[in-house]
Amino acid sequence: MRSLKKSNQHFTKAAKRLPLGVSSNFRYWGDDNTIYVKRGKGARIWDIDDNEYIDYRLAYGPIILGYADPRVDEAAREGMRRGGVFALSTEMEYELAERIGKMVPAAEMVRLSNSGTEAVMAALRVARAYTGRDGHIVLEGGYHGVFSEVMWYSEVEEWDGKNGAPEVLPFGDGVPRITKRLFHTAPINDANAIEDVLKKHSNSIGAFLIEAILGNCCGITAHRQYLKDIRALCDRYGVLLIVDEVKTGFRVAKGGAQELFDIRADLCTFAKAIANGYPIAVVAGREDVMSRIGDAVVHGGTFTGHSVSLAAANKTLEILDETDALKTIEHYGLRLQQGLGRILDERGVAHSFTGHPALMGLFFADEAPTDYRAWIDSDYQFYNALAPELHEQGILIEPDSREPWFMCEAHNVECLEETLDKFERAVDITIDKLATKQKRSSAAR
Ligand code: PLP
Repeated sequence: MRSLKKSNQHFTKAAKRLPLGVSSNFRYWGDDNTIYVKRGKGARIWDIDDNEYIDYRLAYGPIILGYADPRVDEAAREGMRRGGVFALSTEMEYELAERIGKMVPAAEMVRLSNSGTEAVMAALRVARAYTGRDGHIVLEGGYHGVFSEVMWYSEVEEWDGKNGAPEVLPFGDGVPRITKRLFHTAPINDANAIEDVLKKHSNSIGAFLIEAILGNCCGITAHRQYLKDIRALCDRYGVLLIVDEVKTGFRVAKGGAQELFDIRADLCTFAKAIANGYPIAVVAGREDVMSRIGDAVVHGGTFTGHSVSLAAANKTLEILDETDALKTIEHYGLRLQQGLGRILDERGVAHSFTGHPALMGLFFADEAPTDYRAWIDSDYQFYNALAPELHEQGILIEPDSREPWFMCEAHNVECLEETLDKFERAVDITIDKLATKQKRSSAAR
């Protein structure tokens, strides 16, 4: 059994100063299960109890090359020597904008932010300014950060699956009710549903915010035809298409989901993989739209364009653009899927994969869902039982089945063999435990 003694002790102390003992709600895994990290290297992390894990969470996506990558860290140190922030610009920003413009054709102009939340917030503001309309559409199962205008979601878990649509609720307390009026939602892969919303609210919707791969909902993926249809609908209704590439960007292809699915955004946002873990984000897009910044739209921030993050970003994108790193990552993901699939097939466990090999969802159902509503039909109880067993074995995945698995360049053949070995053990333990539970509950009846 893995010991979390030191993490548990630290949690008791930390919870007195930090709500839930952490700096992001998603890092709290319960009083006895919250992990505190000592360090990361390559594709592995070590907690303060010295448990070692092969990591498939990778900080929810920023780690694209590997933890403490020497090439990026050396560049970051050079960036540190430059001095940080100046309330003035450096030449490094143009270098980054040039690189991004080359990799992502839709990124005609670029502005920098510090986090995905800030970049999406800026994109929506620019879209409102350009269209003169305040409302926006977000896909069911989409996630776009922690600012109020996007902090609404479709509650499919409580929905009976038949009547009407799932209720739209705020993500927790403190989200102003007034922002619900701006928020519209519809399932992915249903262009008619989007057209219905647009017809009904054509005077008030200015933006359609999408993830082409739902990076916070099991990697459920948009069909190519759907993306073509919504591109056309946005053009017809004068709505800006914002492709949120905070998770897919510089991960699923050099040009992100837009390259993978051959779609061109009016505005797009990037954050996680740009700098291999250093905090930086991007809002980019059409010149005529982005030009509104400076003309009338305010965008800024004390820490935007920090020299450490910029240096790390320029080095990370140079590597992703000029080497086969993304191919290596995809190849690893495919081999992992093959291995996991074989183990599950041998045990007759129905399963399927979604998303992209660099950012994949694992479902315990024969058919992967094509929208969030269908997620309730997969056996996520099996996933919920399997995740803690994998943690015990030293394989780190998110406890919530909606979060995909992430791969990085440092995942190598040793990681693969070790993962498959441990996955096999964890699956067997899970099957046994669930069977025992089933027997007990049958006996009790
Ligand atoms: N957009 C998407 C698609 C995301 O996945 C996330 C975070 O997971 C965000 C925006 C918000 O990014 P951040 O956590 O950097 O604020």
